Amino acid sequence: MELLDKLKILGAAAKYDVCAATGCGPGGSGRAAVPAPSGVCHSFLPDGRCVSLFKVLQTNECLKDCFYCPNRIQRDGPRTAFTPDELAGLFMEFYRRNYVEGLFLSSGISRNPSHTMEQIIKTAEILRYKHSYTGYIHLKILPGAGFEYVEQAVRLASRVSVNIEAPTTEHLQKLSRLKNFREEIIGRMKWVHGLQQGGSLPAGQTTQFIVGAAGESDSQIMKTTVSLYREIGMRRVYFSAFQPVAGTPLEERAPTPVLREHRLYQSDFLLRSYGFSLSDLSFDTGGNLPLDIDPKVNFAVHNLHLFPMEINRASYKELLKVPGIGPTSARRIVNARRNFRITSLDELKNIGVVVKRAVPFIQVNGKYRDSYKLVQQLELWRESHDYPLPDNPLILYEGSHAVQAP
Ligand code: SF4
Repeated sequence: MELLDKLKILGAAAKYDVCAATGCGPGGSGRAAVPAPSGVCHSFLPDGRCVSLFKVLQTNECLKDCFYCPNRIQRDGPRTAFTPDELAGLFMEFYRRNYVEGLFLSSGISRNPSHTMEQIIKTAEILRYKHSYTGYIHLKILPGAGFEYVEQAVRLASRVSVNIEAPTTEHLQKLSRLKNFREEIIGRMKWVHGLQQGGSLPAGQTTQFIVGAAGESDSQIMKTTVSLYREIGMRRVYFSAFQPVAGTPLEERAPTPVLREHRLYQSDFLLRSYGFSLSDLSFDTGGNLPLDIDPKVNFAVHNLHLFPMEINRASYKELLKVPGIGPTSARRIVNARRNFRITSLDELKNIGVVVKRAVPFIQVNGKYRDSYKLVQQLELWRESHDYPLPDNPLILYEGSHAVQAP
């Protein structure tokens, strides 16, 4: 098969792996990285920077049977593989022409995990040692890969990942009869964690959930996410809304709303950067994050005893609980207070606070308590009417009519 035909197949097949979060698809939809044709994937990093990755599979042959995956063993379709030399050469061609800034290399499992890992490692070695490439390489660790391959991947890569797919053994069993949660996946993550202690792997270890394919709830996903951060030192957890693929056992299953993926990213962000704990997140009776309300606003309306928060007195940690205030604006508020008392919403706006979101939950030098009362009424009203509160509760009572809303 011609190299470009291989690229067409193996570049397209790589799109199911997420390599960046808080990214956006066309039109800034909030989706994660979007692969363009021919394996080039534009990923938006949390700092807003857009990087182009060459995102590709070493092979789309696979022994496993993951029910959602187009590469599963039982599915028909063209199968192919790059040799390490072909793939490294192709990447360098793209890199020298400035088409891409880094490599994201994943793979199906051809023959056995060790054989395919060997191909992946060889590709990375050719890049590092033959082409003296020092840039970004993300390597996928295949479930069941031997320790020596995991060790070499950690030595060569900037980042590695083992996809977890589901939050528990029971859930993973609903997605594959052949994958072993504890040993093949969590076990390999622990190896990476141990190997990382030597200072290698500058971009750390990541993983990905397929959201909604196994009937799992958001609370189960978030619980496992917290353990991954705490116990395995995971750098990032990515969430990919399940989308059915024709010719797979899950082809009839409804796609997971992208908004669910977005709520998980928001919650993950609260855990990692806002000092929230799992118990601060509010789930519905089915254990899911409500889709109709931002998780931070949901926290605020479920914890009204904490509000309104006086901007001139609240600690940095307390400020982070206020909708519309992030780590940067909270830090700026604390710094500004050393020099003067904050007395107006304009001052907060200049500091970077999203005032529209914050005002129902704050007092500024004793002012704006009324906004808070409106939120209280709104919450009472919501409880009695079972009416969902939108992302920005203020839109319900901007003007005078708000609390009589439907
Ligand atoms: S291991 Fe599963 S998810 Fe990965 S390529 Fe094979 S069938 Fe697909």
